[in-house]
Amino acid sequence: MFDSHVAVLLDQAVSLVNTLTDGQARGRPYSAPRGAELADAIDAAVPRTAASLPRAIDAEQAAYLTGAAQRMRDVFQAMQDGREDAAAETVNALLRDTAARPRLDRVGAEPWQMHFHGPDDSFAAGSSASCATALALAVGGGLAGRLGVCRAERCDRVYVDTSRNAARQFCSTACQNRTKAAAFRARKEGGG
Ligand SMILES: [Zn+2]
Repeated sequence: MFDSHVAVLLDQAVSLVNTLTDGQARGRPYSAPRGAELADAIDAAVPRTAASLPRAIDAEQAAYLTGAAQRMRDVFQAMQDGREDAAAETVNALLRDTAARPRLDRVGAEPWQMHFHGPDDSFAAGSSASCATALALAVGGGLAGRLGVCRAERCDRVYVDTSRNAARQFCSTACQNRTKAAAFRARKEGGG
């Protein structure tokens, strides 16, 4: 469905949104890490690959990524709400502000690979540009319906639906089970 490189970048977008934006996660309030913990959380959210940009996650880069993650969340939320124009507008703004642009790179004797940022971009700008491009390919490729926000009570974490029947509704099996259990209790209490 998604090209494997794009799928990796969409996972990265999900990971950045769910790590860096406040809200609710699996039934509990969620606050993004602050201060010294923030750089470690970002480092963990973006997997390392052979072609990774060098990482120097200072306060400025952390703030940049936090801002970008909030806008990526807006894209998931807009798609969930059926506001496709708003999603496209936000993706275009992200593409512009991160200076996303395609480019072929290779590491050593590895095959050439498509990247969506320049070789000298900062880690924050380069990662954001890659995520923005992946979101653009999803929204512009007829796969925007695959971007979702968890439907469980007290959860607003995002996900990419890669299921065959496009029926995913939850960020995690934890939320799926929680919702099923609540529905079961409601039926029982309803005198069924
Ligand atoms: Zn959830």
